[in-house]
Amino acid sequence: MFIVQKFGGTSVGSAQRIRAVAARVAKRVQAGDQVVVVVSAMGHSTDELVGLSQAVSSTRNNREMDALLATGEQVSTALLAMALQDLGVEAASFTGWQAGVRTEPVHGAARIEAIDPQPVRTYVDGGGVPVVAGFQGIAAGAVTTLGRGGSDTTAVALTAALKADLCEIYTDVDGVYTADPRMVATARKLTDISYEEMLELANLGTQVLHPRAVETAKRHGVNVVVRTSFADTEGTVITDMASMEGLRVVTGVAFEKEVARIALVGMPRSERQLADVFTALADSQVNVDVIVQSVVKSETVDVSFTVQEADVERTLAICERSRERIAYKELLHETGLSKISIVGAGMISNPGVAAQMFAALEAVSAQVWMVSTSEIKVSCVIDQRHLKSALDSVHESFALHQE
Ligand code: ASP
Ligand code: MG
Repeated sequence: MFIVQKFGGTSVGSAQRIRAVAARVAKRVQAGDQVVVVVSAMGHSTDELVGLSQAVSSTRNNREMDALLATGEQVSTALLAMALQDLGVEAASFTGWQAGVRTEPVHGAARIEAIDPQPVRTYVDGGGVPVVAGFQGIAAGAVTTLGRGGSDTTAVALTAALKADLCEIYTDVDGVYTADPRMVATARKLTDISYEEMLELANLGTQVLHPRAVETAKRHGVNVVVRTSFADTEGTVITDMASMEGLRVVTGVAFEKEVARIALVGMPRSERQLADVFTALADSQVNVDVIVQSVVKSETVDVSFTVQEADVERTLAICERSRERIAYKELLHETGLSKISIVGAGMISNPGVAAQMFAALEAVSAQVWMVSTSEIKVSCVIDQRHLKSALDSVHESFALHQE
């Protein structure tokens, strides 16, 4: 088999962990598999580099930030290659640009445009193990990075470019769960999940896999397995719906703990209103999530929307600045909210799922402030103090603890 194995920060967090990863890779090579490795930076070293940059300068130079942050992955590639050689496995480190990873010319969150598979391919075919730096690439001669958590995307994109059979993502959790096991005691590890469901879960707050990695996997049909490097347990397979045994109505529950709601009340009705507000927010890179518009009394319009709690001040300032143009009567905001979501591909053909979720929330007195739905998800904004009991109640209501 031809496999790409990706090891995250905790998996390569110390010299001892790097030797353990080398042993795991060596075992696969000795079993006759062709292996390409992608690694993240050791432990929290990327955060430490960010801290260093802040200690040196108060302005953020995007080009140099990328040059700096890319060094984290280079450390772990070189160390892992050394550890592999110690075990008698031929190995060599590859930076993103040595591995042919070309990105768009943007710093901080560049998308991969193409990967030239040749350098890595040639090295594997020669019997060696290429150890590739995740999270980085090159554009117009400058080092670029893919955004925090981007090594997952490197691994999946490389699997597609190499036409490898499988991408194994080794992380500190042993798979994808029906809910965060730290919040819901009865959460169960899933054996498989579809790209669509995983993408929703990743976007709705489940932090197992980077959303862009899931998107890339879906686009290229890459088979992905999420598993842990700390044990020999089987992980969760992420694949297309057609190869799954049966569609579950609800597969998992996700949440975002800190959400805030902003409301613009009493705007006169006009066509430009919504576009004006949300263009201003988008221009300032504020991520707006759930949007509710209501026209109760016909002359005026109320709009409320959620943002991350950290963005509240910025959002209010933008709304204040547009006060005259948008002509709202009142600007309200509320913090201390959370968003709870259910995801499941079988929802499409099962009416009554939202109703069941509302009932589960009501059962623990969690009032629903806002609702948003798509074909395969229902999200509700509730008070943060009800989050834990709401997660338990919804998980129980859809019997997610049962196979
Ligand atoms: N080292 C980078 C980060 O901490 C990329 C990654 O780990 O995927 O965000
Ligand atoms: Mg990661």
